[in-house]
Amino acid sequence: MRPMVKPALRRAWRERQTVQFGVTPAHAVLVGPVDTATGSFLELLDGTRDLPVLREQARAMGLPDGQPDALVERLTAAGLLDDPGAAAEAAEALREAEALDRLRPELASLSVVHREPGAAARRLAARRAVRVQVRGAGRVGAAVAALLSAAGVGRVDVLDGGCVQEWDVAPGGPPARSVGERRDAAARRLVRRSAPGRTGQRQAAEPPLSLVIVAPRDGLAAYAPDPAAAGSWIGTGTPHLYAGVIEATGLVGPLVLPGGTACAGCLALERAGGDPGWPRMLAQWRSGRRAVTVPACDLGLATTVAGLTAAHALSFLDGELPASTGARWEVSMPLLDWRAERLTPHRDCSCGAAGRTEGERVAGTGPPHDTMVG
Ligand SMILES: [Zn+2]
Repeated sequence: MRPMVKPALRRAWRERQTVQFGVTPAHAVLVGPVDTATGSFLELLDGTRDLPVLREQARAMGLPDGQPDALVERLTAAGLLDDPGAAAEAAEALREAEALDRLRPELASLSVVHREPGAAARRLAARRAVRVQVRGAGRVGAAVAALLSAAGVGRVDVLDGGCVQEWDVAPGGPPARSVGERRDAAARRLVRRSAPGRTGQRQAAEPPLSLVIVAPRDGLAAYAPDPAAAGSWIGTGTPHLYAGVIEATGLVGPLVLPGGTACAGCLALERAGGDPGWPRMLAQWRSGRRAVTVPACDLGLATTVAGLTAAHALSFLDGELPASTGARWEVSMPLLDWRAERLTPHRDCSCGAAGRTEGERVAGTGPPHDTMVG
């Protein structure tokens, strides 16, 4: 092991004997007590020295025997150490694909979030084997697909119909020169162009779908998702995440874990139960006669929703349960205050999520991050 203090977290002396790693409460960690010699020793943990060398240099600095090992152990437990050697293979795979430099901010972010040494590089490399389907190639869907591709997801399929319209064009989405092209073809090119490093090397076997993202151009289909359309994902246990913009309101979620958290069917039953007029209005909204051609989906909101959707998707693909699991986040122009609505599985829904507890963790505050070591 060649321990390295994670470079992604800023370091500062909080007081004479306490070092704080990181700025924000979500990921900051305090380490103390740290005397001057130990503080100097911390500078040596830069990934270039293995433990025998570190012990030798610590002895020369006057640190007692055993202290270097104890310190490395404590810092590892606090999630502050990375080990470039432990993830060498994963990093090499990214380097070979000429993707590593583009993905360094992703790597740094993962190193803050995942505590074990080497975890960041391994998770980033694992994204290359992941397959995601994005349904919808408007301002939100196309940008989500481009972001996932740029963040290292190996395979992003985009489905949509029709041709790119002037109002689909967005920074991060379809470019102006795509206007008039088929939406799916334009989105596929956008995905390819966004991918870091070399692309085009397809795996021999198609990987199973890890996630479906439902980001329809008509936000109604995300706000009031059709249970029938989700039937096959519920049947196959495919996780799916809804996102969109409808009438100047953006929404991210729910992320549905079939049989574990509330699904489109649960949501429909819940709404119909609480508002007898809802099913009748929904039928009118869905009918072609009342459809809206140009959505009220301004760029700031669409881009925000796309970015947050990609972040929730990546968090899930990297092994976490983000706050959209069984919940929906909404934000409306012009005040833009985010609010979350927890969605309860409905006992009459055939998805079977009612009574289960999967995904419950997101209701709490998550694991404690601010750890005092010492
Ligand atoms: Zn359900």
